Amino acid sequence: MKQIPLLINGEFVASQSSQLIDVTNPADNSVIAQVPCATEQEVQAAVASAKEAFKTWRNVAVPERARLMMRYQALLKEHHDEIAEILSQETGKTFDDAKGDVWRGIEVVEQAMNIPALLMGETVENVARGIDTYSYIQPLGVCVGITPFNFPAMIPLWMFPLAIAAGNTFVLKPSEQDPMTPTRLAELFLEAGAPKGVLNIVHGGAKEVDQLLTHEDIKAVSFVGSVPVGQHIYKTATDNMKRAQCFAGAKNHSVIMPDANKAQVLNNLVGASVGAAGQRCMAISVAVFVGKAKEWIPELADMIGQVKPGLWNDKEAGYGPLISPRAKQRVLSLIEQGKQEGAECLVDGSEFSLPGYEAGNWVGPTVFTGVDEQMTIYKEEIFGPVLCCMEVEGLEDAIALVNRNPFGNGTSIFTASGAAARKYQHEIEVGQVGINVPIPVPLPFFSFTGWKNSFYGDLHAYGKQAVRFYTETKTVTSRWFEDDIPHGPNMTISLR
Ligand code: NAD
Repeated sequence: MKQIPLLINGEFVASQSSQLIDVTNPADNSVIAQVPCATEQEVQAAVASAKEAFKTWRNVAVPERARLMMRYQALLKEHHDEIAEILSQETGKTFDDAKGDVWRGIEVVEQAMNIPALLMGETVENVARGIDTYSYIQPLGVCVGITPFNFPAMIPLWMFPLAIAAGNTFVLKPSEQDPMTPTRLAELFLEAGAPKGVLNIVHGGAKEVDQLLTHEDIKAVSFVGSVPVGQHIYKTATDNMKRAQCFAGAKNHSVIMPDANKAQVLNNLVGASVGAAGQRCMAISVAVFVGKAKEWIPELADMIGQVKPGLWNDKEAGYGPLISPRAKQRVLSLIEQGKQEGAECLVDGSEFSLPGYEAGNWVGPTVFTGVDEQMTIYKEEIFGPVLCCMEVEGLEDAIALVNRNPFGNGTSIFTASGAAARKYQHEIEVGQVGINVPIPVPLPFFSFTGWKNSFYGDLHAYGKQAVRFYTETKTVTSRWFEDDIPHGPNMTISLR
């Protein structure tokens, strides 16, 4: 059985650990590899290697660091489809979806290519007579990334390229459920010329993460994953005096005004709700119909009901299986709870199974209507192909509903009215807003700005905020006395 290696000090090495976790193909739950839980010594060695590499990496010229990212971007593009295929095997994502996962990561590497401009500080001449003040942006040291299963290419790439381009070194702890994709990303990073120790990878779960969070040589922690783990990581990292940014769960609402373009709304909501089996932190899981827009619910349900889950290489497949039997069980039990708590199940995917792949983690598209705020399917993040439809009287009610929700990752509004869109974008307490765009994930020259229970910290992922997160500002105030200017036969400087 293939065992996923660790990456320590520039070498891919087999772990000495006897504790192995199966990596499965979610389409049939066959075991395709095993991932080790790194030993304490191995985690220690990864951090020590990153610490050692920092001594020289921080002094590498910034354009040289940018060039590493340029070579990496070219390699990622060259191997784009191959990475996507690995990704599809271990996540079950359709090939198109897997390619999107890789591509969104490449875009962050393109941002890291831009690092010289992003590291520019500020200057003011003559803050007092003859005194100048200027600032430099300097790296922190060893940074850590802990990533979830649902974007095994994009989310590691949210983290290590910008951190490393800014002069830091990195230890990545990828999701134990799909570690093959991040391993391939790291192989290509070495091939691009990354010096040894600049990027390290350890595998495992809670225990290995806790060792990193409490390690005195770690300066900053980036996490993406679920709410309870995000809260634990934020508290532990900051208790141990580290910088932390923790991206957590979501419940994203789309508000549909009756003046919206119906065909666009329906087409957009199908992909935004059940695409990627709903396992996207920006998936639309609640559609809020304002006034007469509720008349569109049966047609939307009908369209969603026609989406067919399937294998990664089936071009007709709308999405693949859920990541694990546990995830499937969770989603099925939430669907059951929705029915018991009185929501009307217009499309029920709980019996779906793909012929020949009955052992896989399949859940068919599911649509509930008549959902209210007290129901478990509304309160909890389902993270499955399930859309909850709700109805309200007016835009004010929709805004109040979304603002009462404890999550604040993304939201969208569909309308033909600029005034309604403007009011929504201004008043909504959610960090990423789409106007006639269902899933408003910003490109990496902006930042990924979730709010409320979807994010713990202050500086967000990628863009300028990530560069701030991974750096310190050093402010220099400087004065030079004219009397000290050397004079001599060849050194006379005329000051006038
Ligand atoms: P998860 O929280 O189970 O795991 C995330 C990472 O944390 C993994 O690497 C895992 O090994 C590690 N981990 C798990 N338990 C731990 C513990 N007790 N202590 C320390 N580390 C631990 O998340 P997941 O199921 O892999 O991912 C799905 C979740 O991620 C969803 O809630 C989704 O909304 C969220 N997510 C959020 C964003 C965002 O930007 N807000 C993006 C993608 C995914």
